[in-house]
Amino acid sequence: MKYVIIIPDGCADESQVELDGRTPLEAAATPAMDQIAQNGIVGSANHTPAHLPAGSSVANMSLLGYDPIKNYTGRAPLEAAAQGIELGEHDWCVRCNLVTVTDQTMTSFTAGHISSPDAKELLKTAQENCTNPQLEFIPGVSYRNLLMFRGTPDSPAPFSSETRATPPHDLSDKSVAEDFPRGPGSNLLCDLMNQSTDWFSTHEVNNTRQSKDQLSATNIWLWGLGQRPNLTAFSQLHGVKGAMITAVDLLRGLAALIGWDRIEVPGATGYTDTDYAAKGKFAIEALDKYDLVCVHVEAPDESSHEGNLNKKITSLEEIDKNIVAPVLAHLQASGGKFRILVTPDHPTYLSTKTHTHGNVPFTICGAGISADQFDKYNESNAEASELEMLNGWELMPFFLK
Ligand SMILES: [Zn+2]
Repeated sequence: MKYVIIIPDGCADESQVELDGRTPLEAAATPAMDQIAQNGIVGSANHTPAHLPAGSSVANMSLLGYDPIKNYTGRAPLEAAAQGIELGEHDWCVRCNLVTVTDQTMTSFTAGHISSPDAKELLKTAQENCTNPQLEFIPGVSYRNLLMFRGTPDSPAPFSSETRATPPHDLSDKSVAEDFPRGPGSNLLCDLMNQSTDWFSTHEVNNTRQSKDQLSATNIWLWGLGQRPNLTAFSQLHGVKGAMITAVDLLRGLAALIGWDRIEVPGATGYTDTDYAAKGKFAIEALDKYDLVCVHVEAPDESSHEGNLNKKITSLEEIDKNIVAPVLAHLQASGGKFRILVTPDHPTYLSTKTHTHGNVPFTICGAGISADQFDKYNESNAEASELEMLNGWELMPFFLK
């Protein structure tokens, strides 16, 4: 049996006035997703327990079949795993965004989608200016970087599970004044965030960016901190070896921590300019080698963060046309047994430009799945369906059963 999971990140949304009350998923032309719904089932699942942050790290952990209430320790440790960075028993990892804050307002949580070389230069400066030898700035991709606190039994990190830090994408176009880190160890984080404003204000990278009409990276924004999670290997739980296709480090990290291989696709950007067709092609090729292939696409989520309705619809249509359609056609033509699942991790609302708690629609077709009455994949059919999984992590064993 071959299994394919396609994750249009953050695709679930509300009905839109501009769309005469339809959701982006309802407005988008998605014939391949609808074909899965026609041949199979539509349901809803909640991947974000009420007391955990609504976002990709919690929700994708649940989507992959791991109860985040038991297993979630924070977002940054997952991204560290993506980069092959080992976290020791006393280490803490913190997500270090490069952001643009103008007059105390979060103008851009991505510093205008800063390039990786620019980000690397700024982090080098941060490291040179930082006087604490236990702190290590680690460049990642674009604005998504990490800060490590290398703790020891004698000199442990000051953080705890009570340390709170707001994701910068939750602050888009809002005041940051009341949302600095708080709780144990937050002074350390706030000091670094404040100091970085001085480190970056006259930085050559920012001077050059300004001369090109690009947003400056005004400072670092620290959040998502946590220690290493211990996840049982997916193959041990389900007897299936998987592979992950994604451009986003936290998905790479989750895959690494559950023992999946990561397949890197040239042209996959984690943004709306990603090479959708390349992802579809690589997924099909990967099915020769793996029994389960998961394709994650960040573009719908990024479109929602920008509040860009048209981009969101386009990204869903691109996913349908260039990933779902060719993969489904390949599975059907292969003549073998298969199952395919399409589901986002969490809703991301255009209206608020951020992730939210609540159910997401899923659709599954394939071997042993009898068709229900729904012929379109969307939020309203999912809501009407009796198939509802309030513990979203039960969807994966259901899909693989
Ligand atoms: Zn997400």
